[in-house]
Amino acid sequence: MRQKQFKAESKKLLDMMINSIYTHKEIFLRELISNASDAIDKLYFRSLTDDSVTLDRGDYKIALAVDKEQRLLSITDNGCGMTAEELEKNLGTIAKSGSLDFKRQNETGEEVEVIGQFGVGFYSAFMVADHVTVESRAWGAETGSRWESSGAEGYTIEPCEMDWNGTRVTLHLKEDSEEERYSEFLEEYRLQELVKKYSDYIRYPITLLMPDYRPKKKENEAESGEGQEKEPEYETVWEEKTLNSMIPLWRKQKSEVTPEEYNEFYKGKFYDYEDPAAVIHTRTEGNATFHALLFIPAHAPMNYYTTSYEKGLQLYSRGVLIMEKCADLLPDYFSYVRGLVDSEDLSLNISREMLQHDRQLQLIERALERRIKSELEKMLNNDREKYEALWKEFGTQMTYGLCMDYGSHKDVLQDLLLFYSSTEKKPVTLKEYIGRMKEGQEAIYYGCGRTVEAIDALPQADQLKEAGYEMLYMTGQVDEFAIKTLREYDGKKFLNIRTDEIDLSTEEQKTALKEENEAAADLFAAMKEALGDKVEAVRFTDKLKTHPVCLSSEGGISMEMQATLNAMPGNEGRYKARVVLELNRDHPVTAKLKELAVTDKQKLADYTRLLYAEGCLIGGVPIEEPAELCRLITGLMTENQ
Ligand code: ADP
Ligand code: MG
Repeated sequence: MRQKQFKAESKKLLDMMINSIYTHKEIFLRELISNASDAIDKLYFRSLTDDSVTLDRGDYKIALAVDKEQRLLSITDNGCGMTAEELEKNLGTIAKSGSLDFKRQNETGEEVEVIGQFGVGFYSAFMVADHVTVESRAWGAETGSRWESSGAEGYTIEPCEMDWNGTRVTLHLKEDSEEERYSEFLEEYRLQELVKKYSDYIRYPITLLMPDYRPKKKENEAESGEGQEKEPEYETVWEEKTLNSMIPLWRKQKSEVTPEEYNEFYKGKFYDYEDPAAVIHTRTEGNATFHALLFIPAHAPMNYYTTSYEKGLQLYSRGVLIMEKCADLLPDYFSYVRGLVDSEDLSLNISREMLQHDRQLQLIERALERRIKSELEKMLNNDREKYEALWKEFGTQMTYGLCMDYGSHKDVLQDLLLFYSSTEKKPVTLKEYIGRMKEGQEAIYYGCGRTVEAIDALPQADQLKEAGYEMLYMTGQVDEFAIKTLREYDGKKFLNIRTDEIDLSTEEQKTALKEENEAAADLFAAMKEALGDKVEAVRFTDKLKTHPVCLSSEGGISMEMQATLNAMPGNEGRYKARVVLELNRDHPVTAKLKELAVTDKQKLADYTRLLYAEGCLIGGVPIEEPAELCRLITGLMTENQ
């Protein structure tokens, strides 16, 4: 019979399993049992619509069996089974993204320790076995097929006699060595322990012939005795036992589940190597009756901010999986949440289209949204460090949520936002900002830029610092859009330090400034002419303390928004902020400009362009004409030669 080769990807994974130095090799059992359970789920699901499947719920089981002499351990299920083609396809190739993720992780040089934390699948059998046999007969097929492999060399598939449908996976365990003991997987009590640990919630009975050591029953009880104490004789009775409790974890009482159990369940089911940041386990009754077990991951999956990421929760109906990823159960801004919902109210063979309009589903979504929000708030208040870490991972997505649907998710999201604060030097919430506002402070001040340092260096930041006002740093791309959508928080407006909206000067100063601006109308006109349509206007300001110049904007679109909007495909050059060149009237350079306005118009124009360039540079606005700027600077350097 011809030996077939594993697909390249599969071979890599297989090699890793064979040569694994991983200490928790025991997880192979969890993998094989979960495959058996999946296979039964598939057949059970089919039985709901297909009358030819005559099994009842109670007929399904997963049977473990050991043969100590031959060193064999088998896992048998009466699920959907596989045809020869399916054996080839499923066991010759890695099907699952979980396995692939694992491989990727491993290539980045992470410890092999991560093995047990991903769903590594069928090949994990090769961590403990040197030969694996899979006999399988698909439901409705006439005969079975046998798949066999001793690992790296490849595998064979041939027909075999089978008078039952389902799958039996038989492992020939590796010989014990000095470092490793594989015989433990032939011991009944050890197997029982492993099933309890990893597979307790599997909904079908997992059985094993277990030894029971008990006193021998006397043939004729009455005759023995005559007072003297005789040692009772013991015998070993073999009995088939069900090892798992069959109650899904999410249907247990919270008090019955340990944190470790939640974590193991999460990592095994959702292919993560890290414990979740939070677990939400709830049972809701009323309009919608359901159990939910949700996890907030501690880190974003690699593809989270790409289009390949699919949000969604597993959907069960009375304990039976009916949909792997039900997107309608999660709003986009909580799309990172993983988990499952088990509802009493959904019909089992409901179609995807029907689900979309299902009122029950909407009720569940809303209830879950509330739960997730309150869990996040709890973390925000009680474990700030953890929440900040979470915000780093998922903050962009939640901020984005504020901008969606005309800001209708404001109530859910606004108190979850974090922004770095100029006075606290750490991320703060809007509520905290409001609580610290100085007397007479009318608005929430913020600055935009790529980094905290860049915003801090903005000339316009000086006036706030001098006045002792707190400023929020908006470094995220969508931060300002979210703020604009909010419009106000707790009755306070948001003011961007780089717009003309902030004026902290006294009435007296204002009047003086107004007069001086009017007097300099000619100067400004000349400067405006030098800059063309780059600016709307030129004027003096009191907001600058040490800097000579800054660029501010008027109206709804700030310079940062202009940059973000124009960077979107199809928008090139479409949005334009109304830019104002503002001059520090106390700065020596202003005196110089006034002088040049009389003595040298050409030089005034050059200086104006230089000051405009300065404003751009310090404000993080790209220089449009670098060559022209260089010419001006060089001109200055060589002026008096
Ligand atoms: P996964 O379970 O993540 O898909 P595995 O490597 O564990 O990946 O299994 C690969 C595939 O082999 C499964 O998706 C399934 O189609 C098939 N399979 C494995 N075990 C069984 C079984 N006992 N009965 C039917 N199909 C099985
Ligand atoms: Mg599997």
